[in-house]
Amino acid sequence: MSSHKLVLLTAAALASAGSLAACSSSDDSTSSGSTASQSATEEETSSVEEEADPSSTDDANGAEPAVATVSVVSTTTQLGSVVGDIVACASPDSTAITLMPIGADPHDFSPSSAQVASMVTSDLVIANGLMLEEGLEDALENAASDGATVLEVAPLVDPIPFGDEHGDEHGDEHGDEHGDEHGDEHGDEHGDEHGHAHGSEDPHFWFDMNRMATAAEVIGAELAKDHGEVFAECGSKIADEIRSAEQDVRALLESVPADQRVLITDHDALGYLADVYGYEVAGTVIPSGSTLAEPSSAELRELVDLIDDEGVRVIFANSAEPTTLADAVAAEAGADVQVVTLFVGSLGGPDSGAEDYVSMMLTNAELISGALIAP
Ligand SMILES: [Zn+2]
Repeated sequence: MSSHKLVLLTAAALASAGSLAACSSSDDSTSSGSTASQSATEEETSSVEEEADPSSTDDANGAEPAVATVSVVSTTTQLGSVVGDIVACASPDSTAITLMPIGADPHDFSPSSAQVASMVTSDLVIANGLMLEEGLEDALENAASDGATVLEVAPLVDPIPFGDEHGDEHGDEHGDEHGDEHGDEHGDEHGDEHGHAHGSEDPHFWFDMNRMATAAEVIGAELAKDHGEVFAECGSKIADEIRSAEQDVRALLESVPADQRVLITDHDALGYLADVYGYEVAGTVIPSGSTLAEPSSAELRELVDLIDDEGVRVIFANSAEPTTLADAVAAEAGADVQVVTLFVGSLGGPDSGAEDYVSMMLTNAELISGALIAP
């Protein structure tokens, strides 16, 4: 039917534009055009009667509802990228702010007072949660008590526990228990768990693109509640784009032979990637799920020994952190141990290959597979 509509519109445009109509009426095509337009009118009429679809009537009248503009604040650069895409799709005149600058470490970023104010006046604050933003926790709590709506995403995408290397028992117990108990207690108790003790949940969910896709849907649905269904539609659209790109990331990471899928990382941040693609995080320079912890010299010594024992030839550093410790461990472990910097805590700047969430993940997958596949 759309081609018939086009014919009708064209005929109407020609009729209203005097000189064009006069010009075209001078050649033979006008009569056949007019015939087509008549038959199209008949078909159009019967089609409208058959379908009786209110939405198609709206389309025909051009009476689309105005899209609300929103003001959304995201904490991390990864979330800011995805949220920015959703908002640009649904309501391009809206405001999407990301608190953390490129290269900031999400664990220790603290907001300015202007940023705190922007959280309170926004329609929605989107945070990672699960104690990723340790330097932002107070500001988030204060913003919420001042009336901001804060959506913490990580708890909503089936988070995994830290430390899969602790064995299967833990994983099984965790799955059964966390669903009911986690939500309400977390806020009050996390003070004691500050160092990401064994058993706490891993906030670095963006290393699983399918979880990030789910997050895009969750965010779109949350915005749709008050601001229109188009936000949910755009959340789904961006989720589909992320899932599509995940196929390329998967192909790269699964191109590494299974016995070479061993990661040494700067801190315990790649658990989701390891879980999804069959990798092992054999050790971390900072023995913690947070960059705020510091390794003892004994722990660094252990890591050097582990690298020697396992024959690991790469340490993956984090662009949001100095590589000093990773460089020192690599130097101690041997001349042929290289340090490869991934985009872990933050997107990269212009021309980094990690300017948005999807390109960040693709670049990480290229760096990991490139470094691990023996030449
Ligand atoms: Zn981290």
